[in-house]
Amino acid sequence: MRLPRLPVVLAAGVVLLTSMPTARAAAAEPSFVMPSPYVIAIDPGHGGSATNDPTQLWDPGVVVGNVMEKDITLDLAFRLRALLAKERVKVVLTRTGDEYVEISERWNRVHASGARLFVSLHVNAFNGDPAINGATIFYPKPDSLSFAQAINAGLAQTLKRYQIADDGVAAKPELWVRSDVPTATVEPGYLTNPREAGLLSQGDFRDAIAMGVLQGMLAADPQIEQVKLQIIHAEAAAAAQHQAEVGTTADAARTATATRWGLILGAIVVLWVVMRIAIRRQAGAPHLPQYRRRGYRRRRAVSRRS
Ligand SMILES: [Zn+2]
Repeated sequence: MRLPRLPVVLAAGVVLLTSMPTARAAAAEPSFVMPSPYVIAIDPGHGGSATNDPTQLWDPGVVVGNVMEKDITLDLAFRLRALLAKERVKVVLTRTGDEYVEISERWNRVHASGARLFVSLHVNAFNGDPAINGATIFYPKPDSLSFAQAINAGLAQTLKRYQIADDGVAAKPELWVRSDVPTATVEPGYLTNPREAGLLSQGDFRDAIAMGVLQGMLAADPQIEQVKLQIIHAEAAAAAQHQAEVGTTADAARTATATRWGLILGAIVVLWVVMRIAIRRQAGAPHLPQYRRRGYRRRRAVSRRS
């Protein structure tokens, strides 16, 4: 009978043992609740460009020279959205490009977003008198008055250093009549006033407008900051739990590796002993005297060849 050679048996044992699956740590259940974000809708007023299709409507808003209101309002909306993103607010825009959107469709988008506050961004115009100037906030119904006042106060603060006159708030029921959340239409300056038109072309002035509106929103509803803190805490808890899980998995993997190598070494020892016993039994004799071993091995080698 031919016995399998020791190295072959050992190699097979090593392959078998090293292919054992690694123990995995079971994923723990989340121990925190991620709050839903505060939602605010922003409407960049006007939008769209003339096309070859005469039936396609478009609305640039106020146009002075080559400056169009629709471009300023979209840029203001992007700046305000960036500021609100830092407050962890989810911002929904009624348009994100140069697009014509009906007022009713804009309101549908606001309503569908679940927004808790809504601002429509415009710039003002007074044809025939370029001296007319100042910032005004319109609101549709009395239930939006305090929101409009908060936006007005925020803007008055950030536009003070640009000497923009504070024209206060005014009711304008024809705007956003269907609104059922605090709503304000922001008119931060006049494109028909040369000084304010110059400021409206500047990035720092546009940032000041966005910051003023943000300050007004934060003052109007403390929930914005509360939800932000809840989100930050939930994210910290999620990160901590993730770290803990990563640590547990690494520990389990280390334990599994140590166990596997222990088994491999143990198996090698057992196989070695088994092979020794098998070799001795095949020889058919107990311990041969030391001086005859060399001869015995030579004889066995000869018999294998036959
Ligand atoms: Zn407008």
